[in-house]
Amino acid sequence: MVEDLLEKQNLSGMEISMLLQAEGADKTKLFEKSSQIKSLYVGNKVYFRGLIEFSNICSKDCLYCGIRKSNSEVERYNLSYDEILDAARFAFENRYGSIVLQSGEIKSPQFTDRVTTLLKKIREFSDNKLRVTLSCGEQDYATYKQWFDNGASRYLLRIETSNKELYKKLHPNDKNHSFEKRVECLNFIKSIGYQTGTGVMIGLPFQTYEDLANDLLWMKGFGVDMVGMGPYLEHKDTPLYAFRNELLPESVRFDLSLKMIAILRIMMKNINIAGATALQAIDKIGREKAIKVGANVIMPNITPGEFRNSYKLYENKPCTDELPEDCKACLEMRIALTGNTIAYDEFGDSLHYVAGHNL
Ligand code: SAM
Ligand code: SF4
Repeated sequence: MVEDLLEKQNLSGMEISMLLQAEGADKTKLFEKSSQIKSLYVGNKVYFRGLIEFSNICSKDCLYCGIRKSNSEVERYNLSYDEILDAARFAFENRYGSIVLQSGEIKSPQFTDRVTTLLKKIREFSDNKLRVTLSCGEQDYATYKQWFDNGASRYLLRIETSNKELYKKLHPNDKNHSFEKRVECLNFIKSIGYQTGTGVMIGLPFQTYEDLANDLLWMKGFGVDMVGMGPYLEHKDTPLYAFRNELLPESVRFDLSLKMIAILRIMMKNINIAGATALQAIDKIGREKAIKVGANVIMPNITPGEFRNSYKLYENKPCTDELPEDCKACLEMRIALTGNTIAYDEFGDSLHYVAGHNL
């Protein structure tokens, strides 16, 4: 039965839900299939994206996020140009093909210009040989365009959940937190020509298997080039913490995340899929397990060490007290153990983007 599903060209929502609940031998078959497809279509390579969390200042109040605006327990920071550029240089010198600049969501002309200046400086020192992904939330079309024109080639904006009703439960009910706006932004990003990345949280309160199946169908329907998805993890200083007793156990959220990655690899063979850091918070080799079942991207955290504790989206965020060099050495060893090689000096563009369609 599972064998038949795994050979299908197009899976229905119901069939995806069934796969999400596969256990034992069926789960093994799912993971074997996704692993084969990964080897065949994107190769047994892992691309590094050096993650620089350059500011935790945020104007939004997402009910799940530890750095939401209303959390007064967080010490806010904003890295200087030099700190950000030093981290970017570290990635470049260590032959990472690309970096991700991530922050809370700030919408202002000053912020737009600051990111533009950073992009220009990165392009200058790297001679345009470092791909830059931005993940700075919702912006207007002109801002996304300005950043694209100045060297950002990829943008990550998670849809968080494709279920509009669930989205409403996870965000304050105001125009600053609208599902429609999120989708509009993703459309802007795609139409400008970015490699477009999205993702969801897995194991959220009130989320069903059907929701998760629809998330995967939504990603396919939208035609995303890159996906980063991982388990939802609770944070005690957030409103959603009140529902912690209704959550699936962490080990189940972890397992579901691996199945989501595996099924997506089967559905969208040539996209880039990241093993999210949240996987590592549950299992020390969580990201490597994701690599085995279909992911092909890892985002080592290269934010200067002293700031990492202040970018806590959830409890037990890993690697917060390690230096970038330590992270690199431990990752290299672990990836070798998965039978994959690290693609140093390669941009690792999404083949889905390059080909212009899904295989
Ligand atoms: N502010 C930007 C945005 O929201 O798109 C980028 C930074 S935001 C911290 C990056 C991602 O962190 C969000 O898209 C969300 O999926 C994830 N995140 C936030 N809180 C989380 C939590 N408690 N557990 C797991 N992931 C979480
Ligand atoms: Fe801000 Fe992003 Fe966290 Fe929402 S998820 S509160 S936009 S940092």
